[in-house]
Amino acid sequence: MSQNVDKIKDHFQLFQEPEYQEMFERKREFEGGPSKEEIERVKEWTKTWEYREKNFAREALTINPAKACQPLGAIFAAAGFEGTLPFVHGSQGCVAYFRSHLTRNYKEPFQAVSSSMTEDAAVFGGLKNMTDGLANSYSLYKPKMIALCTTCMAEVIGDDLGSFITTSKNQGAVPEDFPVPFAHTPSFVGSHITGYDNMLKGILVALTPGKKKGVTNGKINFIPGFDPYIGNIRDLKDILSVMDVPSTILADNAESFDSPNLGEFKMYNGGTTLEEGADSINAKATISFQKYSTPKTLEYLEQEGGQTTLTYRPIGIRGTDEFLMGLSELTGKAIPEELE
Ligand code: SF4
Repeated sequence: MSQNVDKIKDHFQLFQEPEYQEMFERKREFEGGPSKEEIERVKEWTKTWEYREKNFAREALTINPAKACQPLGAIFAAAGFEGTLPFVHGSQGCVAYFRSHLTRNYKEPFQAVSSSMTEDAAVFGGLKNMTDGLANSYSLYKPKMIALCTTCMAEVIGDDLGSFITTSKNQGAVPEDFPVPFAHTPSFVGSHITGYDNMLKGILVALTPGKKKGVTNGKINFIPGFDPYIGNIRDLKDILSVMDVPSTILADNAESFDSPNLGEFKMYNGGTTLEEGADSINAKATISFQKYSTPKTLEYLEQEGGQTTLTYRPIGIRGTDEFLMGLSELTGKAIPEELE
């Protein structure tokens, strides 16, 4: 054997050994693979201008479309609210994927729970899973709000979140007045940005009823959207502080995905309080930074809050200038020299 326990060879070295080379040769013959000369010829061709032009001429191919499913966006939005536990009604494997996906991107632990539906729930419906899940989550993790969304499984069988939540409350899983906003997030429609929008709207629908006042609170709501770079929220806060603009960020998940390393685990880092979420209906205007992540939320704030809604893309010098000038015009606040 080329490999032995006393001297373990790295695979680069190992595969150069005669027995491996012989095996590769037999494999090539068995599979009818191209000759060494042909492999060399193609290898050289991939370095040519012709090959480059062929690649740039592609039209019908999308490489890495960066598209994930709705519940991923929904739990991302929910994580921006104070004391909020994202709860996904559906199969556990999906939620494991969401948690690991967010953790890998932001390098932060992320917690979301699942009603862990299995075969029986797929046949008979997931009400019992949800009732038990809500009761367990409420007593174990002591959240201030549980934000519910769904996976494909719950959507395919048609579980009705609104009636399930009412039934669960009637059965004492959580107190009657405990906020459980929800959003149906079927993954065969839209993508993670659709889920973000649905959940944010769902949270506002749960928090804002009865909170509308006759006058505005003078604040501006800002919706960052599904932003994979959390530093943007911190920059936004700096700008708002320098310009002295009263604001509410919907939803502020900067600390959820970039929490300070204090040596102790803190379960909830969402920065938007439930009171701020409720009062957002009284804002003077709402600015979204992602048009396609927020259409339903903006429509809700326009219709129920009577607000002006705007979309800016402060990317690059031109985009940032447009945003700052628009913000200055909206609020009457001057743009300070340090931002010019
Ligand atoms: S597409 Fe559906 S099944 Fe797949 S991870 Fe998303 S919710 Fe789960």
